[in-house]
Amino acid sequence: MTSVKHLTLRTKLILAFGLIASFSIISSGAAVYLFKAYQAQLLSVSQSQGEPLIRSTDHIEKLRTLSLQLERIKSADGLSQRIIALEEIELQWSRLLTDLEATKALNPDLSEIYTYKPESIKQLLTAIPIMSRIIGELYYTQEQNETIHYDVLKRQESILAFYRLEIHSTRQQIAVIMQAENSRKLNLLTDIERRINKLTSLLLEGLSSKHNQELSRLAHRSLIVLREIEQLNNLLDQNIQTATAAWIIQVKPYVASVDSVFQQRKRQIRLKRILNSHIDQHVLKINKLDKITHDSVKFLKSEIVTNASQITQDIALASKLLIALAIVCLISVFLIVWLFVGRHIIRPFIETSRSMQLLAKGETQISIPKSREKEVKKMLTSLKVLQRYVAKVNDLAEKDSLTNIFNRRHFDKILSQSLSDKESNTSISLLMCDLDHFKPYNDYYGHQQGDNCLKFFAQILERLSDSVSDHACRYGGEEFAIIILNKPSHYAESLAQLICNETSKALIPHKQSKCADVVTVSVGVATMQIDEIKDVNHLISIADKALYQAKNNGRNCVLINEKRCS
Ligand code: GH3
Ligand code: MG
Ligand code: MG
Repeated sequence: MTSVKHLTLRTKLILAFGLIASFSIISSGAAVYLFKAYQAQLLSVSQSQGEPLIRSTDHIEKLRTLSLQLERIKSADGLSQRIIALEEIELQWSRLLTDLEATKALNPDLSEIYTYKPESIKQLLTAIPIMSRIIGELYYTQEQNETIHYDVLKRQESILAFYRLEIHSTRQQIAVIMQAENSRKLNLLTDIERRINKLTSLLLEGLSSKHNQELSRLAHRSLIVLREIEQLNNLLDQNIQTATAAWIIQVKPYVASVDSVFQQRKRQIRLKRILNSHIDQHVLKINKLDKITHDSVKFLKSEIVTNASQITQDIALASKLLIALAIVCLISVFLIVWLFVGRHIIRPFIETSRSMQLLAKGETQISIPKSREKEVKKMLTSLKVLQRYVAKVNDLAEKDSLTNIFNRRHFDKILSQSLSDKESNTSISLLMCDLDHFKPYNDYYGHQQGDNCLKFFAQILERLSDSVSDHACRYGGEEFAIIILNKPSHYAESLAQLICNETSKALIPHKQSKCADVVTVSVGVATMQIDEIKDVNHLISIADKALYQAKNNGRNCVLINEKRCS
């Protein structure tokens, strides 16, 4: 297997970004997987518990409607209302049975709660036609009762009207002729009238009675009263007998026959009992199913609560896992980006770019970054070569090609930098050196010898000046300058004097000089505090004036700020 170190930068970058991409895919894949898993779990809870719960509450509502319909059968006035209620019960029951079976099928656990027998309910439904017939018959007998009630009262009224007339006329006869016969007749009439009233009230009582025993008693009593009426009637006049007998014939079937008021009423009570027992059976089933559905609602609710809390716990755990995974991925991505891409690739590139910008400005004091990457190493090697070239170009630009000391460009740069950096520099001295009668030297000894003389003088300057504080430069032609930073004025004066002495002591023959027979130099010195100097020209002009003065003073001497040389 190839070691990672030997891989190219391109392969390493592809590997790094591949790793980052796989972390993203892993974390988002895990999130999607968990989301799908909990979605399926919630779906199963809603299907096996949520839906049966909703259905069960619906069943409770349907059972309540059934109870109301049964109540309606018992209490409704009209026959059609009762029949409609009965039909509704049949329809509701068959719908409820189908719904109950469907609900049971949704959750296997419900089969333990749904312990009812659908066959027994179906059997109950087979009795619906009988119930319908009973309701019809009851309604019919009820209507008959009303007719009898009306008929009995009408007949009582007509016979009593007849009796009132007879009693009235008998009372009048008694008032005219007080006969024992008339008083007996009056007594008989009032007796029968009382018994007619009694019989009517017994019949009406029979029509509304609710107990068989009472009905038997009423039937017995009414029969006695009727017989008494018949017996008393036989003692009256023929015309009264006829009228009363006609009334008895009409009323007798109500008192003593198979269809008498009392027999009919007893049949009614029996039918009602049968109907009520049917209704009670329905009520029993409804109550049982009501309990079952309430139990199922309770069970489903507790199941939902348990499952919901379990799912909530699972989701909370999954969320923590996902957060942990995301943190691990983030840390890994951060480490890859920071350790590998950032430290080994981006940082060297940024540092290289900074160094190149500095190099472009001519700055050669730059830090070259380090890298283990082959490709980056090659780039850094090229940067080092470039640094060397720039240093060389800088050197060439600021060194004088003849004397190999700094040139006028360097002089100008150093002087302006020193004057502007007032924090580091306090004082500055400028030495302006000019070889005496150099034109005749050139003319006499030749230009080549002149150049050699200039080189030699430059070496004297370099040798005598301090490499840290003093900057010796060729100012132009046979003129040289030394900038001295932060040294007392006597240091500049001593150096100027030393240069002057060393030049003449070199004993370079100069037959054409008017001041000596060797090459000499005149030096003008200016020493000033940085704050006193207005600008570069200010210092140069003072040093120049000193040099001019030295020339005027006979040359081969030093003059300090217009002072005469010794
Ligand atoms: P003074 O004492 O007043 O300074 O007199 P001088 O002759 O030195 O002054 P002048 O300015 O008249 O002459 C300077 C001469 O320096 C002129 C030129 O021939 C010579 N010179 C300038 N640059 C060079 C150079 O690069 N090489 C050579 N060989 N001679 C140079
Ligand atoms: Mg000159
Ligand atoms: Mg000169």
